[in-house]
Amino acid sequence: MRTSSNVRAPHLVTTTPEAPRQTLDLATAGDTPILREYRAIKADFPDAIVLARLGDFFEMFGPDAEKAAPTLGLALTGRGFGAAGRLPMCGFPHQALAQHVRKLLDSGHSAAIWDQVGEVVAGRLVRRAITRVLSPGMVVEAELLEAASVSRCVGLFVLPGATGIAAFDPNTQHLELLEVAGDVSGGALADELARLDATEVLVPVGTPVPAAFAGDARVTPLAAALFDPARAADRLRGATGAIALDGLGVAAVPAALRAAGAVLAYCERARIVISPELLRIQVSTTDRAMRLDAHTRRNLELFTRLGGSGTSLLQLLDATRTPMGVRMLRARLHEPLIDVADITRRLDSVDALLGARDVRRRLRDALAGVRDLERLVARCVQGIATPRDLGAIRDTCAALDAVASVVRDAAGSPELIDAAANCVAPEGLHARLQALLAEDLPTTAADGGSIRPGADAELDTLRGAGSSARTYLAALEASERERTGIRSLRVGYNRVFGYYIEVPNAQRERVPDGYARKQTLAGAERFTTPDLKEHESIVLQTRERAIAREMELLGEATALVAGGARALADAAAGVATLDVAQSLAMVAEELHWVRPSVDASTRLRIIGGRHPLVERTLGPGRFVPNDLTLDDEARIVVLTGPNMAGKSTYLRQTASIVLLAQIGSYVPAEEATIGVCDRIFTRIGAHDDLSGGLSTFMVEMAETAAILRQASARSLVILDEIGRGTSTYDGVSIAQAVVEYLHDAPQLNCRTLFATHFHELTVLAGQLPRVRNARVEVVEDGAEITFLHRIVPGGADRSYGVHVARLAGIPGGVLVRARQLLADLERARPLGGGGDHGSDQLTLPIAAPGPHPVMRELASLELDAMTPIAALNKLVELHDRAVR
Ligand code: ADP
Repeated sequence: MRTSSNVRAPHLVTTTPEAPRQTLDLATAGDTPILREYRAIKADFPDAIVLARLGDFFEMFGPDAEKAAPTLGLALTGRGFGAAGRLPMCGFPHQALAQHVRKLLDSGHSAAIWDQVGEVVAGRLVRRAITRVLSPGMVVEAELLEAASVSRCVGLFVLPGATGIAAFDPNTQHLELLEVAGDVSGGALADELARLDATEVLVPVGTPVPAAFAGDARVTPLAAALFDPARAADRLRGATGAIALDGLGVAAVPAALRAAGAVLAYCERARIVISPELLRIQVSTTDRAMRLDAHTRRNLELFTRLGGSGTSLLQLLDATRTPMGVRMLRARLHEPLIDVADITRRLDSVDALLGARDVRRRLRDALAGVRDLERLVARCVQGIATPRDLGAIRDTCAALDAVASVVRDAAGSPELIDAAANCVAPEGLHARLQALLAEDLPTTAADGGSIRPGADAELDTLRGAGSSARTYLAALEASERERTGIRSLRVGYNRVFGYYIEVPNAQRERVPDGYARKQTLAGAERFTTPDLKEHESIVLQTRERAIAREMELLGEATALVAGGARALADAAAGVATLDVAQSLAMVAEELHWVRPSVDASTRLRIIGGRHPLVERTLGPGRFVPNDLTLDDEARIVVLTGPNMAGKSTYLRQTASIVLLAQIGSYVPAEEATIGVCDRIFTRIGAHDDLSGGLSTFMVEMAETAAILRQASARSLVILDEIGRGTSTYDGVSIAQAVVEYLHDAPQLNCRTLFATHFHELTVLAGQLPRVRNARVEVVEDGAEITFLHRIVPGGADRSYGVHVARLAGIPGGVLVRARQLLADLERARPLGGGGDHGSDQLTLPIAAPGPHPVMRELASLELDAMTPIAALNKLVELHDRAVR
């Protein structure tokens, strides 16, 4: 960290002691050339913190300095301008750029890097230019990215009736265009932004953006002109090199096209190079995959565990060996498939690798040699690859061959075979990098030594000339000691004074005539000689030229990689596919999961299902597996049982199993048949996101309402404890009405698990034909109860709340009193019969069940419009349903 005393850029240091002078703003501060340039730059990048490279430091001035200093933990200093006052400043050594930029991005700022791009010549102003503008969605630098996650910049544009989305990952240069119905406040948009891992959202200035919709993403307003449709089309044509856009299908998504125009303009401003080679444009739709809302992602603990700590589903599934693999796994969890053939294709891959242990082991070994190819290529495209990046690509080329040959040798699934066929580097790339690059590479090209001896004649000549001079210098110490008789004479080098001969003061009188003094130290004197000077200049000049030549060669290699970016990106995707398949096979084997049978029915049949994460927490053998059947006869299961019995676990495990099956994974069960679900809805417990000031009950009802509106007959609906947030009577009534609606509404009738501790709801199974009761088995021994966590048919007859209170450690006296009160209440106002589930004697205090569906349909018939035969048919049908 910088303090005011020790580090300052040399030519902006004020040596005047602190004086009580006014603080200047940029406009009034002195008129040095650099400040003039700085002002012009700042006018172009008013919203970013401009980091100006001055010598070995990056400095910030004026309001930027004041804004950034606290965030970066830097001392705010200032440059004095005589009597006029001081301009606030702060800065840090250039080596610390990445860590400071990360902090700026984390705190919501953008950083514009105003770097020295010209040669540094004493006495002349160095040429500077904005080399990068970093913002949360525009990051390609290795130090600022996490291997396992993705960050996308997403443009939004609202047209009447539709919001256009253009999501761009600057690393893969994949641009996805789609439109969702409604404006930016719609839930569908928030779901898409979460799926896309949006870290920055671009909107036209003035677009109202509700606080919660973008999640953690930063919202960046841009000038409306950047969303102009004609300019957007031009930009897209420019970026793709296509003359006509017809083939891309963008005409179908006009709002998204306008958003894409803004994204491309923003890339230009960020100095992100768009490679026509790499850029891939995909027009997609919201119904191409299973859409997951924020609640479901959270309830199924896809990426983080509820309560914060513990293994997430992603972590459980992650036995990948490459960064591409884990990122693809994450993308798959974000976007489960809905097409049976696609799911089967993935499952076949897991199957193939599960059965071939040896292939899997060899594949894992080969994958371990693959580096983050996707991002290495991205850095080559941006021209910021280091020698080590190029070395990593060289090594990866070799590893790709190994990966592909493992899969080729073992007949695998079609998906594996296709993926392996993509695992090839562009022709000749490996050989070229191998021939060019040294074995051990320096961190930066400026250090020299990146190029293998023998790779380039010009470089070899320069190095040869340098090395004979170096040999002379190396021998100089011995020869001068001999010649002068000064035993303690030393030849050394430092960056400021270059080469020197050092003689301790004690031996000073023996210094020969030809020595010229260079530097005086406390105990010694440093000299040079004409001969030494000559050799020194050969060493330094040849070194400089050699490094320039090395850079040239590295630049060519970088361009070679960038030219093959498409093939390398395909190889990276192939690697990811293989890696995910082997990861899922590893997990399936280790955790004893089975292959689900996935079909287009609306059945769900699970034998011996387990909750993947709870099972892991409990340890081997302690989780009680459970069965479930939902089909055309049984659409809704009402699950009753005391709190803490395992209802919520059962619900969540069912949803997790469906989700796992649809990403193409094996599942934690003995057997599973999954009729593909178009969406999974979960409403589980009360969570603590009451940020909007809504009551728990209001949140619960809003979520339930969303489910009832959005679910379809193919959805899986998981409802846990609906109605808990209000009084018992209210709660029971609402819960019952919700179940009736799910059962009766023709567009719903979807597979539903409904858990409740209101045992009164078991009555519904007797009234609605497709509702079944299930309960969590409990063993009672006097006042003691034991939860068996086993789900059995039938309904629970009471709530056991007082028992749970005892388990939780409520003092004995309180429990005795509670039991007494409960008995009194039950005598006074029987809430449900407490006897057989589903029997008619159950008297719900309110909400007698609605009219039988047959009655409702009868009432709605338009008899005048029916022919006698249609009426007769209807009568037969209604009769059948009534007696069933
Ligand atoms: P409920 O929803 O009925 O209040 P939970 O599903 O939250 O109960 O389960 C409470 C605890 O019981 C879980 O944290 C877990 O430790 C344990 N549990 C639940 N289901 C099982 C099971 N099938 N096998 C073993 N333990 C279970």
